[in-house]
Amino acid sequence: MVKSTETVDENNQTGPHFNFDNSFARSLEGFFVSCKAEPSVAPKLLQFNPALAEELGLDPVALDSEAGLAIFSGNVTPDGSEPLAQAYAGHQFGGFAPKLGDGRALLLGEVIDTQQRRRDIQLKGSGRTPFSRGGDGKAALGPVLREYLVAEGMHALGVPTTRALAAVTTGRAVYRETSLPGAILTRVASSHIRVGTFQFGAARGDTDKVRELADYAIARHYPDTANAENPYLAFFEAVVNAQAALVASWMNVGFIHGVMNTDNMTISGETIDYGPCAFMDTYARDTVFSSIDRQGRYAYANQPAILPWNLTRLAETLIRFVDPDKDKAIEILTDKVHRITPLYETYWLAGMRSKIGLSTEDPLDSKLINDLLRMMEEEHADFTLVFRRLSQALRGDSETVRNLFEEPAAFDEWEQRWKKRLEQDGTEAEVRAQAMDRVNPIYIPRNHKVEEALSAAVNQADMMPFTKLLAVLTHPFEEVAGCEAYAEPAPVTDIPYQTFCGT
Ligand code: AMP
Ligand code: MG
Repeated sequence: MVKSTETVDENNQTGPHFNFDNSFARSLEGFFVSCKAEPSVAPKLLQFNPALAEELGLDPVALDSEAGLAIFSGNVTPDGSEPLAQAYAGHQFGGFAPKLGDGRALLLGEVIDTQQRRRDIQLKGSGRTPFSRGGDGKAALGPVLREYLVAEGMHALGVPTTRALAAVTTGRAVYRETSLPGAILTRVASSHIRVGTFQFGAARGDTDKVRELADYAIARHYPDTANAENPYLAFFEAVVNAQAALVASWMNVGFIHGVMNTDNMTISGETIDYGPCAFMDTYARDTVFSSIDRQGRYAYANQPAILPWNLTRLAETLIRFVDPDKDKAIEILTDKVHRITPLYETYWLAGMRSKIGLSTEDPLDSKLINDLLRMMEEEHADFTLVFRRLSQALRGDSETVRNLFEEPAAFDEWEQRWKKRLEQDGTEAEVRAQAMDRVNPIYIPRNHKVEEALSAAVNQADMMPFTKLLAVLTHPFEEVAGCEAYAEPAPVTDIPYQTFCGT
């Protein structure tokens, strides 16, 4: 493993060393503006992720220090970094905004990790940039910690996602409805290129620039597609594949992203932008948590339909590269767009099959799964716990899952059908139960637990609840004695849970 070493700078101070290689800055002029972070006044390192630092080929000890804090707080630009704010556009709730961009984020640079993957290191909440418009460029502590928890939790659940390397407080207040402690998240992504980045180039009518971006994205994310007969079409298909798999994995864990605007959908297929997201407790298809999603555009069950809508916006930017004959290009891309939903359904069904313990395929599986979901909705059952406790039914205890349904008897007929199907599937019960426990988490970021952790951190400067919750969420499939409270849904109240954009 290549480890970073400490370097001595001109002031004779030792500091953590990043081996930055800034291909975005080198290759994509016009898609960014160079700028600097606003200094923090009294920065404090609240959370650091040494395992991720190792994975990135960085020295965790050198980073978990005053010198690391100086970097994570924006006070020192590390050697080799060429900080920049990326430009992008995007459809926000269906309406097009031609100029968004990093209004409160700064790309420090790219590092090549220990697996030879190129990863972006970005500060989020580091102050104003030329894209800030009316915003202050800052982030409040609560949303920064929320993104840390949920991103790391998603990673542990096996969902592709950006990661959290560090969270610091800046010592500055940020003003939202009240004055709040300011904070910066250091985010790691396989890149920050979005559907909206392509839309930015296309909206400016600069074909050469869009082609440069596509070539860059191909080389960085889907190098094999460069050898295809039609590389840009193959690239589109690769993005479709990654995003279809991603949304299926969200659906399989009950995750609601909340703001699936095209500027928040990555070309890599990683989940990004943990503003108003949340996990569903009781299964309800129309669940919406975000206070600004008044029409429920991004409700749980709408996510698979938004997927092709967003990808169609990407397709529109690629038309002229797919075929010189515009009509033919549109015909070819339209055909690909029509295949998105069936592809998504294949991923979804594969995920659901493994959640109910099936390792073979039967044409009736889809009905079996949908019947379970329908019953869960009618009987107000908890999404995560039903799937987790199904394995107990294979170990001879059906009561624990049965009792999750308001009318427990509703489960019995389905259980019989399921068990019959399992007989046809083969496999010994305990082996199957263990396989199910590896795909059905017991711990997810439950909203009340997340709020409890954030509120202790923000109002009492107490990081203990956050630390405990993070520890639980990083091993979501392993039941731990004493952690029962983390597995339980929130006590039912009349006030629906609401999230805010975290700006
Ligand atoms: P988001 O809702 O986080 O996807 O952000 C949408 C757009 O608003 C992006 O261009 C952000 O950079 C920008 N933005 C969000 N919050 C702020 C802020 N506090 N200051 C400046 N720009 C912001
Ligand atoms: Mg965003």
